[in-house]
Amino acid sequence: MEFWLDLNEEQSDLRDWVHGFAESVVRPAAAEWDEREETPWPVLQEAAKIGLYGFEFLINTWSDNSGLSLPIANEELFWGDGGIGMAISGTSLAVAAIYGSGTPEQLVEWVPQCFGDPDAPKVAAFCSTEPEAGSDVGSMRTRAVYHEATDEWVISGQKAYATNGGIADVHVVTASVDPSLGSRGQAAFIVPPGTEGLAGSRKLKKLGLRASHTADVFFDDVRIPGSCLLGGKEALDERLARAKAGGRKNAAMRTFELSRPAVGAQAIGIARAAYEYALEYAKTRVQFGRPIIENQAIAFALADMRMEIDAARLLVWRAAWMGRNDKPFSAGEGSMSKLKAGEVAVAVTEKAVQILGGAGYLREHPVERMFRDAKIYTIFEGTSEIQRLVISRAISGLQIR
Ligand SMILES: Cc1cc2nc3c(=O)[nH]c(=O)nc-3n(C[C@H](O)[C@H](O)[C@H](O)COP(=O)(O)OP(=O)(O)OC[C@H]3O[C@@H](n4cnc5c(N)ncnc54)[C@H](O)[C@@H]3O)c2cc1C
Repeated sequence: MEFWLDLNEEQSDLRDWVHGFAESVVRPAAAEWDEREETPWPVLQEAAKIGLYGFEFLINTWSDNSGLSLPIANEELFWGDGGIGMAISGTSLAVAAIYGSGTPEQLVEWVPQCFGDPDAPKVAAFCSTEPEAGSDVGSMRTRAVYHEATDEWVISGQKAYATNGGIADVHVVTASVDPSLGSRGQAAFIVPPGTEGLAGSRKLKKLGLRASHTADVFFDDVRIPGSCLLGGKEALDERLARAKAGGRKNAAMRTFELSRPAVGAQAIGIARAAYEYALEYAKTRVQFGRPIIENQAIAFALADMRMEIDAARLLVWRAAWMGRNDKPFSAGEGSMSKLKAGEVAVAVTEKAVQILGGAGYLREHPVERMFRDAKIYTIFEGTSEIQRLVISRAISGLQIR
């Protein structure tokens, strides 16, 4: 598919629709849910009712051959608010794992359960990070052992910082099935609602994204049917045999490259919101008898903020288009997009606070919250250092450490 920067009618309708929801429902609720530090279930329900939270919405955005619909929607939603945006889109991490590794039957069975229905929306969690395995995914200790007699998997271990962990209906958990193979000996499993042995910690207190639930999750001899292994046993056995024979690296790298632009778009939404707020403030705040924007120091800062946001968006759109059109990420373009967007979000929100002066430091203005929310984008879905590692390995062909 050709790369085209003019949005088509469907894309601009999508942008306007999500923007309308972000402006009328998400923004007005943002400060309250940030203070309450609770999952904003009423907002989630409104999103479900209008079709913004649910499998159909994801299918519609994923089916856009240009790849741009998901980043467009994410940017607008997170322009509304980062914390509520994550409460709404956290489920998509688990859905993406089911979509990426599951069989068509597993997709049909589990994805609707991840979302629930508009009258009683549910959330899902993707649990991969562990206390001793963050960036170093290969050192994962959670184990899944297969019991052939009962056709069951038994999972034991601890996961850290899982979005929606413990409050989710469906948990997708990664575990080692053959520790001798490191990250290539891992698999992903569905833990169905109400399974015994799974417990979440209390909600962890965070710097930002405070409306989004984050918790540790404990798996104490959690028994799940054989059918809950994503992709099925036969495919796993073949993959493990290939890994033992020293075959090519696993597909996980490409999966990460595919999901990173969507996360980058969230960061851009937060950055754009802060930039717009600071621009308006700078036009109206008068010091030394003139609006502060009439000082080059302020106007140039705003010019840089706008330029960086636009540059980050172009990288995000390029990577999203490449992913959707099966282009190889030969220079780590997926990582580039998330790295740039995350760092721009941190820099732009910090500048916005600066432009507001003392007012920017107070909760009365949203840039204070945006500054806190933006910081996570240099940390989760791979830290900035890990993105640089991926890019440098891709461009050099060397095992940079
Ligand atoms: C709000 C929030 C939500 C999250 N949601 C989820 C979720 O839903 N599911 C999930 O599985 N995880 C989730 N995470 C976890 C997140 O993905 C991890 O925190 C992240 O991958 C980093 O791992 P870590 O915290 O263990 O940091 P570490 O890996 O301990 O890294 C610490 C520092 O060392 C640096 N570092 C590490 N290795 C290298 C290296 N080789 N070279 C250079 N620098 C290096 C890192 O870049 C970082 O600066 C979430 C985290 C947060 C805070």
